[in-house]
Amino acid sequence: ETSRNLIGLDQQHFIHPTSSMQQQQQHGPAHIFVRGKGVYLYDHDGKAYLDGMSSLWNVNVGHGRRELGEVAKKQMDTLAFSSCFATFSNKPAIELAAKLARVSPPSLRATFFTSGGSEANDTAFKLARHYWKVKDQPKKRKIIARMKSYHGVAMGATSATGLKPFRDFAPSLAPDFLHVDHMSIEALRALIDREGPETIAAFVCEPIQGAGGVHVAPDSYLCDIRSICDEYELLFIADEVITGFGRTGAYFGCDHANISPDMMCIAKGITSGYAPLGGVMLSKSLHEQLTAHSHGTLLHGYTYSGHPTSCAVALKNIQIIEEENLIDHAATMGEKLLLGFRTIQEQYSEIHDARGRGLMAALAFSHNGKNEPLAPKVVQAADQRGLILRAVTFDQQDVLVCAPPLIINEEELNQLLSILESSVQAVVS
Ligand code: PLP
Repeated sequence: ETSRNLIGLDQQHFIHPTSSMQQQQQHGPAHIFVRGKGVYLYDHDGKAYLDGMSSLWNVNVGHGRRELGEVAKKQMDTLAFSSCFATFSNKPAIELAAKLARVSPPSLRATFFTSGGSEANDTAFKLARHYWKVKDQPKKRKIIARMKSYHGVAMGATSATGLKPFRDFAPSLAPDFLHVDHMSIEALRALIDREGPETIAAFVCEPIQGAGGVHVAPDSYLCDIRSICDEYELLFIADEVITGFGRTGAYFGCDHANISPDMMCIAKGITSGYAPLGGVMLSKSLHEQLTAHSHGTLLHGYTYSGHPTSCAVALKNIQIIEEENLIDHAATMGEKLLLGFRTIQEQYSEIHDARGRGLMAALAFSHNGKNEPLAPKVVQAADQRGLILRAVTFDQQDVLVCAPPLIINEEELNQLLSILESSVQAVVS
């Protein structure tokens, strides 16, 4: 196939996620990638791109890891799929659930598997409400989420998402979701008092907001959330879909604050994208309550819950993360990345903030509401220079975000920073 043929077929037949339909029909795909190796992606014409977003914040161990392909093939040749419903089970799913219990915050014990992060969040919201029902508090149904949050696109996940355009896309949403300022503990207290804690099931947050523009709360924020949830008897759901598996320089985002949530949603980095997988981890007490009181049936499950091939890939991926010390490496490289971002910020008055933790970082441009946002232009300039980044323009923001694979080395990081700098320069001056 020539590039031109592929572009034509793509325009005619492929509906892209999170895309502008008009742009897709007029211009077709910007890149058709055919190969990946390490931090690089190669397009159909052989051009290399440094994947500064780990694709979708998920390719933590980098592209082209043969070990993962080999594990997937071996599992598919042996048992590609079998059901996990009711009393059926499989070895990779059991071993992965046990491994997750060992590495996650101490209160967490058992995992319900899904195919991705949206399903993980929907599952968490449903189980939180079910939990209060079996505890004879059926009025505890409301879920509080934060503004600027992103929790996915399933109906519950969309309803929880704080970024308004995602909610507005589906004019009718799931009931009983509320939103609160993304950093203010006082606003959260006031909201709980106003609504009445007896009506609230759970609070959900990303330890570091990702898609909303890499907003890093102080560790004390998560500690305060933990105590408020205890005080008012709300379940604390941590959405660690991006922040899990080393991304922030700790195993999980909650580890920085040393707190244990009641539920933790995971996906993305659990397989580094080599197979689709997500999950919700439950604390020991929640797990006991739910299994003891569901009248023997947990009426919730996906065909692919506990998919043996995905779970086998996850086990190997986690082994790589641990054996190659990628979590500490992400912390070290993250400091250099943030330093590089700060150095760029200092040179341009158009940039008012450089922030991040681990291998998640952002540059915030001063958007006066009149100018066209700068971040998308910088992202485009970087793309032309062989670097993939992302712009966030929701909620009056003009932010560029970056999240390279955890395996990135110093030389590659310097390449990333130097392309970014020349892209900013090309756009701003
Ligand atoms: N939660 C967070 C914090 C995310 O960043 C995402 C995806 O970007 C999701 C949930 C949704 O996950 P998925 O796209 O796998 O459904």
